[in-house]
Amino acid sequence: MKTLPKQGVRNVLIVGGGTAGWLTAAFLARQLGTGADENAVRITLVESKEIGIIGVGEGTFPSIRGTLATIGIDEARFIRECDATFKQGIHFQHWVREPGMPGADHYFHPFSLPSQRPGGPELLPYWLQGGAPAGVGFAAAATMQKRVADAAHAPKRPSDADFMGPLNYAYHFDAGKFATLLATHAKSLGVQHVLATVERVELDDRGAIGAVHTREAGALTAELYIDCTGFRAALIGEALGTSFRNINDVLFVDRALAMQVPYERPDAPIPSYTISTAHEAGWTWDIGLHQRRGIGYVYSSRHTDDARAEQVLRNYIGPASKDLHPRQLKLNVGYRDVHWVKNCVAVGLSGGFLEPLESSGIGLIETAAYLISYLFPHDGDMEPVARTYNEMMKARYERIVDFVKLHYCLTQRKDSRFWTDNTDPASIPQTLQDKLAMWRHRAPHRMDFVVDYEMYPPSSWQYVLYGMEYPTDLYANARTLPRMEEARKEFAMIAQMSQRALADLPPHRAMVEHLAQRG
Ligand code: FAD
Repeated sequence: MKTLPKQGVRNVLIVGGGTAGWLTAAFLARQLGTGADENAVRITLVESKEIGIIGVGEGTFPSIRGTLATIGIDEARFIRECDATFKQGIHFQHWVREPGMPGADHYFHPFSLPSQRPGGPELLPYWLQGGAPAGVGFAAAATMQKRVADAAHAPKRPSDADFMGPLNYAYHFDAGKFATLLATHAKSLGVQHVLATVERVELDDRGAIGAVHTREAGALTAELYIDCTGFRAALIGEALGTSFRNINDVLFVDRALAMQVPYERPDAPIPSYTISTAHEAGWTWDIGLHQRRGIGYVYSSRHTDDARAEQVLRNYIGPASKDLHPRQLKLNVGYRDVHWVKNCVAVGLSGGFLEPLESSGIGLIETAAYLISYLFPHDGDMEPVARTYNEMMKARYERIVDFVKLHYCLTQRKDSRFWTDNTDPASIPQTLQDKLAMWRHRAPHRMDFVVDYEMYPPSSWQYVLYGMEYPTDLYANARTLPRMEEARKEFAMIAQMSQRALADLPPHRAMVEHLAQRG
């Protein structure tokens, strides 16, 4: 393979102005600086006036707080301008068993970690051995967050600093408004903006990108190109022909129907979690923004048809859906084998898309922006950077696939082929099967995870695993659990503190309105 000449990277061209494009632009501008001096990096973003952004993607992971803080957007402005609310986790309805079956019909994946006093016992093994009151799930036993979120209270108080609070949280927001806010902010940081449609991508004699030719602004060149053109993948896919790994054999959903639904009353409580409800061939998301709800059904076209899917969505929403028309999206589920090729990096949907069950899309954009800025090839030597970047991204995607599949493969539902197919071992990656085999007789532990490769912390795996009622049998290890009394006291303390937290933390809507009205 030919090596690229070692010329410095001074010009970065980002193609695409959705969440991926503008978030990357703002992050790079903030971390690398922009400006007039000859060593500064010049960042230009070109986007088409005609090709819209995908405009969905309303749920995030707590990493977004650090990202917003890094790029310099304050929390009140973000809440106000993006119609945003707080997200404390995901409430999973009917994932374990079909409606009407005896047993719990929901579980919670909270963002707060299980409580752990310094020197205190790790609670999970004691919960597995019956240390918490009967019928109390792991999330409710080990954190205050489930009770707070169930009561539609906020994770923070008006007196808490930006991006801080007693409970961990992310946000729900309007994706279109978020892209607009990011664009305004990135431009204020010095990012140049060109409105033009890329019609042709020119490759140079090394097979790297030489220029992008636009209809309105002619040829644009840079030393580094960032492909944020969404599912179109105009640079990394169409021009460079990078292969795409389709993972439909593991994660089946490949269509979405989305609707924006008004609240019944302007003062209706706003849930501070995403509600994910399992249906016959997929699941619905239900997200409460400040001014409206965002609701959608993601489903498998191999297990249902579009008309039936629309009916399922309308049944879920009820009479409020009567005059609304869903937007349909076809989803390319999978990811590129390599994300950085020569002088081009794919960020966002051009690099890959895994279904939105755990909001991995924006999380992966954050990871990409972070990695590009820290690995930035200032001297122009892209090959080692590309190899490192590709290894990190591939590992992240593989682990997210396992984590998302975990939600499906443990179901007890047998009411449709979608669910029985999901438990077929042939659809479960070997890496996940190995983890599950080990967790039959011991609880998942931090040491099971290479933390830098994971988007989701070990606790997220634990909440989902035991929310799905995985039968870990610690019988053989029970004698190594000598701190049962301490653990029982800790569970009782968490329950007591949850009551106090409810008194201390304001209703979710009130907290959102407080921030939205802050100047
Ligand atoms: P897009 O928004 O599609 O932007 C593409 C940009 O490229 C546009 O500006 C367009 O003008 C430009 N462009 C394209 N072609 C050209 C051209 N030839 N010339 C110039 N410009 C061009 N993620 C989450 O984290 N949480 C969620 O809850 C979530 N839910 C989702 C639900 C669904 C149904 C789907 C499909 C995705 C969801 N995602 C979610 C993923 C998330 O929406 C995306 O990761 C995110 O919006 C980034 O999109 P993007 O910027 O890569 O692409």
